[in-house]
Amino acid sequence: MKRVDYLPVFLRLEARRVVVVGGGAVARRKVRWLLKAGARVSVVAPTLHPQLAQLAARGELMHLGEEFDASQLEDSIAVVAATTERAVNRAVSLAARARNLPVNVVDDPDLSTFIFPAIIERSPIIVAVGTAGNAPVLARRVRAQIEALLPARLGALARFMGARRAAIGRSLAAFARRAFWERIVAGPVASAVLRGDEVAAERALTRELRTALLTGARGTGGTLGEVYLIGAGPGDPDLLTLRALQLLQQADVILYDRLVGPEVLERARRDAERIFVGKDHGEVGQQQRINELLVRFAREGKRVARLKGGDPFVFGRGAEELEVLAAHDIPVTVVPGITAALGAAAAAGLPLTHRGLARSVTFVSGHQLDAPSGEWRFFADPRHTVVFYMGMTQLPGIIARLRAAGASARHPAALIESATLPQQRVVRGSLSDIGARAAALGIEPPALLVTGEVAAFAPGEALGAVPASAPAVNAPA
Ligand code: SAH
Repeated sequence: MKRVDYLPVFLRLEARRVVVVGGGAVARRKVRWLLKAGARVSVVAPTLHPQLAQLAARGELMHLGEEFDASQLEDSIAVVAATTERAVNRAVSLAARARNLPVNVVDDPDLSTFIFPAIIERSPIIVAVGTAGNAPVLARRVRAQIEALLPARLGALARFMGARRAAIGRSLAAFARRAFWERIVAGPVASAVLRGDEVAAERALTRELRTALLTGARGTGGTLGEVYLIGAGPGDPDLLTLRALQLLQQADVILYDRLVGPEVLERARRDAERIFVGKDHGEVGQQQRINELLVRFAREGKRVARLKGGDPFVFGRGAEELEVLAAHDIPVTVVPGITAALGAAAAAGLPLTHRGLARSVTFVSGHQLDAPSGEWRFFADPRHTVVFYMGMTQLPGIIARLRAAGASARHPAALIESATLPQQRVVRGSLSDIGARAAALGIEPPALLVTGEVAAFAPGEALGAVPASAPAVNAPA
């Protein structure tokens, strides 16, 4: 058997005395966790870190303003040495071990009989990461990676389940319980709790329980499926949200659009079935087919990720899919994504509402050239930023309408092609030349057209152009 250097255990400290020797910043971090665990903490130190002094003043810890002495360990169940002096730390370690008390000496595994792990907290769920003192920095990195994987409301899910354990135990036979809870943690009940909707969670739980009671001994069949309507962001996979990533990791089926590239799909569960449902121009019936697939897979009990470029509700027909799913009573989780305009703005360095250059921003579909002329006059104001989606094929029409609505030939314009992707290209110009420049470079969809002063923004120049004292056009409240 391969040995481990430390046995990971969770220690109950409630109302038990723990002595911390040392009163600096390091001691403060340990004291914080000890207090969270309900310990009665005594800090031995001539002087205290201001925050520790505050805790002492509030009576939340006991301060012994003296040198360390073994007699201080009386009645304690664990000891922490966090002074900067190795001799003192050694004395503490020796005294503790002589009394068979577990002792931690900060940053000194040789003098320690227990160590503090890096902690990921989703109370009551706690994940502890240790490297047996080999590489604390690596432990912190592992912690950061796990942090990203664990939903923020995981603790709420544990409490939700805990609160219903006894009742479910009474309703279901012992052999059916485990399969039931497994379905709960991997299905619509968990999704609802994790997105903060306990009402929907309760409803889904009732349905799961009814199904479990109906299918009885078989315990399996009849699992409820669900759909995740996920915004995949503008293309760069690092711009996925944590929740998008978490749900992509558990989806059984992924229906994805043309705008969702392989870089993003790579982040999904390896064995998920991937189905391309992108729409070719003018293809009729494709949305209908998508709707049918969503319903069919969910009815089969699958967890279906509907992955859309950008944000599902920004020119994404997410609303239609939501309606279809609601009509079939299929649970849905909507995960927002970074819409192309925001991705492009960041990647191309165009602050959409730069306070010196723009009062507001509008996202417009380039397919809707028939907007009322009042709207075009608004878009033609250079102090108003307009981002045209799906505008490439309509570029001449958009430019003509902006000009007709009063925009000057010098009105700044920029095109961003494949924003946030390695092949991203940015073309800048004005309404008079942006079309010719795009044609010369062969700019193709997906691309966004940005018009207004911010389209000409360049950080260096702007510093001169917008003095710090300039009145704010749209300073946040
Ligand atoms: N729901 C998506 C938009 C879908 S409409 C979102 O929120 O971003 C499709 C249009 O989005 C494309 O025609 C293009 O104008 C724009 N688009 C999407 N991804 C883009 C990208 N990476 N770079 C530039 N434009 C993009």
